[in-house]
Amino acid sequence: MNPVLAGVDVGGTKIQVVITTLELEVLGQSRGATPPTGGPPAVVETLCILLDQARRSAGVDGLAALGVGAPGTIDKATGVVARSPNLAGWIDPYPLGAELERRTGARVSVDNDVHAGMLGELRLGAARGLTDVLGVWFGTGVGGALVLGGELRSGPHGASGEVGHVCVHPGGRRCGCGRRGCLEAYAGRASMERRARKLVAEGRRTELFRIMERRGVDHLNSGVFARALAAGDDLAQDLIDDAVAAAGAGIASVVNAVDVEAVVIGGGLGSRLGEPFVSRVAAAMQPHLFVTGGVSVRAAGLGDLAGALGAAAAAGALVSPA
Ligand SMILES: [Zn+2]
Repeated sequence: MNPVLAGVDVGGTKIQVVITTLELEVLGQSRGATPPTGGPPAVVETLCILLDQARRSAGVDGLAALGVGAPGTIDKATGVVARSPNLAGWIDPYPLGAELERRTGARVSVDNDVHAGMLGELRLGAARGLTDVLGVWFGTGVGGALVLGGELRSGPHGASGEVGHVCVHPGGRRCGCGRRGCLEAYAGRASMERRARKLVAEGRRTELFRIMERRGVDHLNSGVFARALAAGDDLAQDLIDDAVAAAGAGIASVVNAVDVEAVVIGGGLGSRLGEPFVSRVAAAMQPHLFVTGGVSVRAAGLGDLAGALGAAAAAGALVSPA
């Protein structure tokens, strides 16, 4: 019998589930909102309901293995997730892997959401066939992942590829991590919103918050930024200009240190702004690049499914080690 895998991407706003074959062919999927309250038990409950829905849509009963990508500090060996800043009420370490093994009877692997997304792109998307790649995910924050010699690096602290916290302006804007001048402080959506609110309080005019209200959301999501840019909003343009300049310096610095053949740009904001944003980041990297001969900068190819497919790929390694 061909083993069936499940991959789950736990995001700040939604949970995406895919059911796949060992070759990552998608048999079924489901998606639902991430519970805004209730902490880890509520997330597990929702995840299990979505998993059942996806299994029914695929017409399968048993699962050989389940992979989960989640934001936060992940202990891959134990499946414990702690301090997940984008999941409400998730602060103390929680044994997500063990709890899901108990509930599903499947073997479970837990990984960082961005690492899972990179694994998806490596197996099926924009990084397919490459061996040395830096992935940079622009979303609520700026995450990253590093593939060297064809292997996704974890690193002794599990922090390999954290390009969002590369310093691009010593003493610069305050980052969500508490430090100053990080790339994320300029190019993460949450930081850009903080900056926008501060400038509006100082009298700057913008359509950003009116667009947010019209769209019925309570924060400046990727769609709000895209709409404001299309409407020629000055403040949105300035924020994106700052983000592109910071991304150019930060990403080029990492490329100089590790030497990769390609940079893959993804994440909610990266995907929404698409090719024009990717081209601008590539151009902004040029003056900072030490390596000659070119580094390919490309958009991620799997969109919303990258994380769930990558998590399924990690689950596949549990039942069929490469
Ligand atoms: Zn930081």
